[in-house]
Amino acid sequence: MTHNIQKDALLAVMNQAHDRFKADTGGRNADYIPFLANVPSQLFGIAACLPDGEVVAVGDTDYRFGIESVSKVPTAILAMEQYSAGEVLDRIGADATGLPFNSIMAILLENDHPSTPLVNAGAISACSMIKPTGDADKKWKAITDFIEGLCGSKVEVIDELYKSESDTNFNNRSIAWLLKNYNRIYDDPEMSLDLYTRQCSIGITARQLAIMAGTISFGGMNPTTGKQVFKSHLTPHIASLMATVGFYENTGDWLFTTGVPAKSGVGGGIMGVVPGVVGIAAFAPPLDKAGNSVKAQKALKYIAAQLGLNIFAPAETTVPKAAKA
Ligand code: GLN
Repeated sequence: MTHNIQKDALLAVMNQAHDRFKADTGGRNADYIPFLANVPSQLFGIAACLPDGEVVAVGDTDYRFGIESVSKVPTAILAMEQYSAGEVLDRIGADATGLPFNSIMAILLENDHPSTPLVNAGAISACSMIKPTGDADKKWKAITDFIEGLCGSKVEVIDELYKSESDTNFNNRSIAWLLKNYNRIYDDPEMSLDLYTRQCSIGITARQLAIMAGTISFGGMNPTTGKQVFKSHLTPHIASLMATVGFYENTGDWLFTTGVPAKSGVGGGIMGVVPGVVGIAAFAPPLDKAGNSVKAQKALKYIAAQLGLNIFAPAETTVPKAAKA
C-alpha cells in the first residue's frame, strides 16, 4: 500500500459510516461474561491514526470498554519481540483453527500441531512465554508497559470486568490445563491463565486502539509519541496473523470483503491495520454469533471500501473513492 489518506477525506468517510450504522440494531452484547451484558448497547465510536500522529475520531471514542481478544495482538507481538517470530511460530504457530475462539475441540484435534496466538489457547500459551517466566508481577508489567507503549497512554484493568471473567472462565481454565498436557504451556498454567484473563479485562478506548493499530501499521513506531515500540520487521508477521484469524471462524468472509487485517474482541472493539497507511478502530458492543461487533464491522467495511484500503488490491484499484469524489 502506498497511497496517503487525507485527513479531511478520512473524517468525512468516518462520519458517513457513523451516520449510516448508528441506528443499526443487529447483534447482542456478549453475555457469557456477565459484566459485558450490561455495557450500554448503543455506544458507537470510530477512530483512526495517521502516520503524522493525527488521530481522527467520531462518536464514543473516549469510552473505556473491555479490550478482550484484541489484547491477544500486543501479547503476540511482545512474545515475538522477546523471543523471535520464528520461535513463536514453533512454539505456538500461525494456523487458523476454523473453530470458535475458545474451542477445546481445536486443541484436541490439533494436539501435535501449532495453533495461533490470536485464539484463546494460543494467547494463554503466549502469556506463558512472556519473560521473565516464573514472575507473575513482572510478566504483567511487561504486558501492560508494552500495551501502553503501543497506544501511547496509560491503561488499567476494569476491576469489575476482571472479577466477572475470573468467576466464569472455566472453559479457559480447561484450555490452560489441556495445553499443559500437550506441553504447549511454558510457565505455570494457572498464572498464565490469570495473566490472559487480566489482559482481556483491560479498559481501552477506541482512540487508544486506533493509536495501537497505527503503531502496528507504521512498523512499531508510535506516531503520537515518536517511540519505536517493537522491531519493524514484526509488522508483517502480526498483520498476517490478524488476517488469518482475526475474526475466528468468520475471518475468511471478513478478509474476502475488506482485505484489511483486523482483530475483534467480545467487548465490541475491532482494530484494523493497513500497513504504511492507517491504523483504524471501531467500537460497538452488540456482536454477531462468532463474537465480532456488528456495527464496528459494518463501519470498517464501509470505510475500507470508500478509501481503497484493501491490502490485496493492485495499486490502480486502491485509489480511494473518497479522493476521487
Ligand atoms: N476474555 C474472553 C474469553 O476468553 C475474550 C474472547 C474474545 O474477545 N473473543 O472468552
